[in-house]
Amino acid sequence: MSVLLLGGTAEARALAQVLADEGTDVTSSLAGRVRRPRLPVGETRVGGFGGVEGLVGYLASEGVTAVVDATHPFATTISAHAAVACRRTQVPLLRVARPGWSREPGAGRWHWVKDHQEAAETAARLGSRVLLTTGRQSLPRFTGALASHRVVVRVVDPVDSADSVLPAGWVVVLDRGPYTLDRERALLAEHAVEVLVTKDSGGSHTRAKLDAADELGVEVVVVRRPEQGDGVPTVSDVDAVVQWLRSLPG
Ligand code: NAP
Repeated sequence: MSVLLLGGTAEARALAQVLADEGTDVTSSLAGRVRRPRLPVGETRVGGFGGVEGLVGYLASEGVTAVVDATHPFATTISAHAAVACRRTQVPLLRVARPGWSREPGAGRWHWVKDHQEAAETAARLGSRVLLTTGRQSLPRFTGALASHRVVVRVVDPVDSADSVLPAGWVVVLDRGPYTLDRERALLAEHAVEVLVTKDSGGSHTRAKLDAADELGVEVVVVRRPEQGDGVPTVSDVDAVVQWLRSLPG
């Protein structure tokens, strides 16, 4: 068996470790977006495949017998490409999607929105001091609606003009998860944040900001996950992936 693990997430790193421990032949694939990525154990390749055609070619040339898509729930292009390429080459594909975040009705001040544009408009209405945690690529969606707000942008890598030209007065904080409740509380307090904007990434790595926001009465704008709707079988944890791989012929 030769497994291609589409990664870039904590789940993918955990899975690479489990599969390596079991002696499975696995190659992790990263997009190469982050300058100093946390590398999984075992063999790793970095960079796009070149669309569906490139991925089809890779699966054939590397003799891949199974693909596990453990990319981020918002990385919909690579997931769509994997679905098409695996269907075409008849290589079995499984998706791992960590459960999304939720709150009891009435707990916290959460506002669910359908996309980043709606997140920007909603955040602009809810307060004047905003913490943006939706990632570098989403910034152009916010610069218009929040141009005159006090905005703190938290990102892993510095923002350059190719990503977005940030309005004067916006503050960039460079950091990467996992985050602790104490640090998240301190960040929200230091900048007197009134509105936190996040994607529904799910999982525990970046969850502390939600708990800190609830404690401090900060409004939270949550971008819903995009629908994939392509019928790819999906599980929510590493154990289920291991079971699936064991069930495959050969
Ligand atoms: P995307 O929009 O779905 O993908 C854009 C292109 O990047 C794909 O068409 C593919 O290029 C390449 N790519 C993406 N993931 C890849 C992978 N694991 N291995 C090889 N190529 C990959 O992806 P994205 O939202 O920019 O995310 C990029 C990576 O960052 C993903 O691997 C994801 O797991 C991770 N990540 C994303 C987010 C997020 O919020 N989107 C958050 C945390 C981590 P080709 O078409 O050339 O093959």
